[in-house]
This record gives sequence, C-alpha cells and structure tokens, in this order.
Amino acid sequence: MKLPEKLTKLKAYDPITGTYAVRLDANESYFDLPGVLKAKLADKLEQIDLNRYPDPLATEVIEAFAAYYGISADCVTAGNGSDEIITLLLNCFLEKGATLVTVSPDFSMYAFYAGLAELKVEIVQKQENLQLDMDVLIAACQKADAVVFSNPCNPTSLGIPRSEIIRLIEEAPDCLIIVDEAYMDFWDESVLDLVTKYENLIVLRTCSKAIGLAAARMGFAVMDPYKTGLLRAAKSPYNCDAISQTVCAAVLRETSLLQHCRDEIIVQTQRLYTALTELARRYPELLETVYAPRTNFVYIKTAYAHEIYESLLHAGIAVRCFPGGLRICAGTRREHTLLLTELENILQPLN
Ligand code: PMP
Repeated sequence: MKLPEKLTKLKAYDPITGTYAVRLDANESYFDLPGVLKAKLADKLEQIDLNRYPDPLATEVIEAFAAYYGISADCVTAGNGSDEIITLLLNCFLEKGATLVTVSPDFSMYAFYAGLAELKVEIVQKQENLQLDMDVLIAACQKADAVVFSNPCNPTSLGIPRSEIIRLIEEAPDCLIIVDEAYMDFWDESVLDLVTKYENLIVLRTCSKAIGLAAARMGFAVMDPYKTGLLRAAKSPYNCDAISQTVCAAVLRETSLLQHCRDEIIVQTQRLYTALTELARRYPELLETVYAPRTNFVYIKTAYAHEIYESLLHAGIAVRCFPGGLRICAGTRREHTLLLTELENILQPLN
C-alpha cells in the first residue's frame, strides 16, 4: 500500500516535552485561575451529563466570546483550538492546488496544514529587521487565493498596524485574508470589528494566550454570517467538548479578571524586554537585537540561539529556539529572576 508523501514526508510539530522548572516556551499565560473560580467551575462541571454529546454549535461559549469582544455571535465558529480552525479553513475554503501566501518568519503550522490540504504555498520573506513589507505582500496576494499570517506575529513579537491590514484587505479584494490575532489581546490594532464590512476577511482568536486556557483547547474563527454558516456546516459536529465549552464560557464572563491578567502580563513582558535589552547592551556580540514586543513574549536575534537554548534547558528553563533567534515568554517575577541569572551564567563564558 502506498501512503501519500504529504503524510510520509511530514515533519511533525515538535513542541518541548518533559518537565522543566521554568516554562517560558509556549507563549501561555503564567496565571492559573483563582481558587474561588476553580471551585465555581467544579460545580458547573459536576452538572455536565458526560454520557451526552456536547452542544455542536458551542452556543454558550460563542455567546460569551462575542459579548467579551463586542461582536455578533452570528459571526463566530468555535474550534478545538485555533489550530483546528486553521486546518479546517485551509481544507474547506480553498480548492486543492490553490495558492496560499504565508510570510516568514511566522507561525509554522500554517505551512504544515497547507501541505496536508495540498495547497501551493508561496512564502513572502520579511525584511532584515523582521518587519513585513506590506507592498510586497499586497503584490503577492494579487494572484493568490488566500493569505494567512499572525498579527502580532509569533515568533517575532512585532505587529502590523490596523491601517496596513485594511490596505491589504482593500487592495487584494479577491484574496481571502486570514488574520490570526492569537496575541491581539496584548495589543490594540485588531480588525475583528471589520468582518462584516469586508467579505474577504477572516479573523482567528484563541483562549490559549491572554485568556489563560491553553489546556481547554478553544479557538474561534470570526467572519461574516454567510461564511460562518459554511464553516459551521463543514466542521465535525462535536469538535469542542462539553468540559472545555463550560470552562471557557465561564472564564470569558470574568471580564475584570481577564483584563487584570492581561494588563499584568503586558507589564511583565515589558519588564522582561527591558531586562533582556540591558543584557544585550552588555553582551552586544552575543545578543544582536531584542525586539520591542506587542505580545506576551520577547524575541532576541542571536547567532548563539542553539547554545543558549541548550544551556537553559540543561538548567531547567525552557524557551523556544529558532534558527538565529530565541523566543522567551513572559513569566512570573521569580521565573524572570531565574532566567536572567542563568542567562548571565551562560553569556559570561561565551563572551
Ligand atoms: N496561532 C498562533 C499565532 C499561535 O502562536 C498559536 C499557538 N502557539 C496558535 C495559533 C494555536 O493556538 P491554539 O492553542 O488556539 O490552537
């Protein structure tokens, strides 16, 4: 039996596994839910009929999500993480062989799912300073069927202003523009409100970052009601389990808690950025650039990424390594102290 090469040649996504004292590798929130809220959730979970299938339309969580972001629930589809939404969109909204534009560096799963969906991928490289040249992207989108990118970007932490996204949407009207706003809670340039204005726009959101529920696997696609109907029809009926729906709906209603956590994470990210910038000032040969983040993580350009990454892992600190760079997620004050002490220990002998 011959299996397709798209499967046999697939390079699996390789998240860090194992136990590390400090986890700053997956861009999660460092806040766990307060005990009182967990107790409230436990009561709600007790009421779930575990022998029954969940609500296929995830009505309660979609309503809570729509209310939190001030949009219409008719524009929202829930998925098993935004990862599921990405693969669904690429498989259902594009024909096999269609052209998908991605940018680089960006979230690696776009190209991964595009391969499985048998799409032709065209990559637009970012500039030396890791910024995207919007004119180049607009030109690439003229003949493409769709484009997908994260804003703000994982892994660079940089953002594209809303006005530039609108220019792309308007200047490439025949191209489906998928804007992955997984980290937009940490910035303020969302185009979520524009999905009913532009029929070529789809926005993705997730509960895994600022909302702090990576374990629950809940992501959302936001687009006009017509396309929402199509996506809801195309998804598997029970893609979001009852436990996650209940947990995410309850947490999305905790508006002030969520805003407090988000504000704290932004402050911590700025602290991390300042501390890493200071380190780069002292070790300019080793840490080339620290980028000003619009996200909950900081990206450092360094030719020593692999060495630093391995040494940190050895010390029980997980960050994410890329060719030529490190991505470090904001954590608690204690985690930052451990990280910075260890970085100092690693950089001194390399200097
Ligand atoms: N998009 C981006 C840009 C991400 O960084 C991630 C997670 N690393 C995802 C989507 C996937 O998120 P989820 O947990 O909702 O599947």
